[in-house]
Amino acid sequence: MNKVFKTLAIYTVIFAVVFGLVTFIDQKPSGAVKEVSYSEFTNYIANGELKEVTFKELEITGVLKDDKKVHTYAHSSLDINRLHTDYLDQQSREGLVNVKNTKPEKESWIVSLIPTLIMIGALVFFWTMIMRQQGGGKAMSFGKNRARLQKENTKRVTFKDVAGLEEEKEELEEIVDYLRGPKRYISQGARIPKGVLLVGPPGTGKTYLSKATAGEAGVPFFTISGSDFVEMFVGVGASRVRELFKEAKAHAPCIIFIDEIDAVGRRRGAGMGGGHDEREQTLNQLLVEMDGFDEHAGIIILAATNRPDILDPALLRPGRFDRQVVIDIPDIKGREAIFNVHAKNKNLADDVDMHVLARRTPGFTPADIENMLNEAALLSIRRRKNAIGMAEVEEAITKVIAGPQKKSRVVSEKDRWLTAVHEAGHAVVARTLPDADPVHQITIVPRGRAGGFTMTLPKEEVSYVTKSRMEAMIVELLGGRVAEQVILGEISTGASNDIQRVTSIARDMVTKYGFSESLGTINYSSSQELFLGRDFGSKQEYSEDTAKQIDIEVKKIVHTAYEMTVNIIKEYKDTLLEIANALMELETINGDQFEKLFKGEATSKSLAAEEENLDETNKHSEENKVEEISEETQPQDESENKEAENIGKEDEEAFSDDIQKEE
Ligand code: ADP
Ligand code: ZN
Repeated sequence: MNKVFKTLAIYTVIFAVVFGLVTFIDQKPSGAVKEVSYSEFTNYIANGELKEVTFKELEITGVLKDDKKVHTYAHSSLDINRLHTDYLDQQSREGLVNVKNTKPEKESWIVSLIPTLIMIGALVFFWTMIMRQQGGGKAMSFGKNRARLQKENTKRVTFKDVAGLEEEKEELEEIVDYLRGPKRYISQGARIPKGVLLVGPPGTGKTYLSKATAGEAGVPFFTISGSDFVEMFVGVGASRVRELFKEAKAHAPCIIFIDEIDAVGRRRGAGMGGGHDEREQTLNQLLVEMDGFDEHAGIIILAATNRPDILDPALLRPGRFDRQVVIDIPDIKGREAIFNVHAKNKNLADDVDMHVLARRTPGFTPADIENMLNEAALLSIRRRKNAIGMAEVEEAITKVIAGPQKKSRVVSEKDRWLTAVHEAGHAVVARTLPDADPVHQITIVPRGRAGGFTMTLPKEEVSYVTKSRMEAMIVELLGGRVAEQVILGEISTGASNDIQRVTSIARDMVTKYGFSESLGTINYSSSQELFLGRDFGSKQEYSEDTAKQIDIEVKKIVHTAYEMTVNIIKEYKDTLLEIANALMELETINGDQFEKLFKGEATSKSLAAEEENLDETNKHSEENKVEEISEETQPQDESENKEAENIGKEDEEAFSDDIQKEE
């Protein structure tokens, strides 16, 4: 950054100097020349004060008797003729004045062009220099650019900053020990892996754990990303790799971290046609370097990927990345630990309970958690609170789950009603199923791509899922679509996400968990898919016949569930309508309100009235917060909902987006 500014400054100075010079040259009659009006000039001549007059077309320069120079322009050649006949002819004959006529010289047009040419030249020079600095120049000097390979010495993280991941840390402990004292390993003839592949979805802490490993061992950490190579010029990637290893060798013992190794380490020859020369060259260079250094060189290479399945097998051979550490999305305990790590530098209010937060955030990656806490901090600043309260945290959680709240988005009444009916459908169905989770919140406020959502919370964290629970999940998901169908008589694209999830649950029941009778307890899914969520059908390990049977079974499960959902919706039609009305009034209703509506203890009207009263009293008790209430939080007082424990699953659909765009 600094460097760019420096060069820019230098070029600006050069440019300014050239510009100045050119303007200086361009200034024609040089020396102390006094610019005068034509009539003044005529006076000089008439009074015989000039000893020399020089004509150059319409331009006239005169030298006064005291050697001062005056300069002017005639209006036309007639003027000049008149000057001659009236005064100059006679005066020159008498030898009083010396009249010179400078014919417009032949080369004069070239001369006049010179400044322009210099200007153009300077501009071109200036421009190319800038271009080279940005693009081409990089290509030429990148191989030698060490800036990005520099050691990370900003605040060291160690294993104690890494929450959870106990087994993963244990696996890396050996490497830490080796890096602390490679000599012991050498003398005992023990071999240590050169490369360790960290496998896991984005945001799970692969980079963080690698840094912590370096921090724990107290060695330098060199980092490079596979995606850096993708846009590079041929040959640059390979030379970067060479340079990286050279640098690392000079600083051994140390750790090299290659992020997104799949970007460069993809199976060779797997690309579409040519054009992958650069990547392959880089990969080859990486392999050469890995083989090139001795096991005892004190260099450990950690690499991160989410797709070990697409890596070139050569990378995984012994002596290269022959060890894998899988990092998964954290479970409830892990989440609580991560909350505790990141809460240390945040000012949290006493009502924020880490245990509750952990239960509220299933599926969150460490990056999500960090992001969420930051959102909460920003919210509390915006609300001018001096500590982050549970209300902010709750809102931040919802924000991270479903993207930023979009109150400003204009949603037509018809769309709102559709969403209300859809969400009420989910909630009512969930309420009637013994195996479904209690409803925690329903909203039709659009967030991110979701038109609205229904949030249910499990009573306790479950580590296994029963068949009837999975069926209940399917029915609950279908509730939205079926409500649209039964109540409105038309269906929308808003249920596309529901349907996708229904399909994948039903598929899992058949292919993973052996819940279907005709196919039996056989796992038809590939093992990778279990933890990495690979696409279906990418690696089919069963016959066409089996595939057909799987489809039939999946269809059967979904069909049965659909019939069941239709019956529920029809039976509870009135309740559902009341809930949908309440959603239209309040936009968001919490678990208690839902329960009252369901049991008939409240109506949409009574709830709306209640809510208004609450708002009134709030307004009176907190005069200074009126502004924020109207702008920020409408009926979102979930913080008071103390038994709110855990988001089991939230369900979102892309109403407005889909309605506008899809099919
Ligand atoms: P990845 O490399 O897997 O995409 P990162 O290493 O960049 O993920 O992790 C994202 C953020 O999450 C890190 O900056 C770190 O603050 C946080 N984080 C990740 N894992 C942990 C952990 N085990 N404990 C605490 N914080 C973590
Ligand atoms: Zn839905």
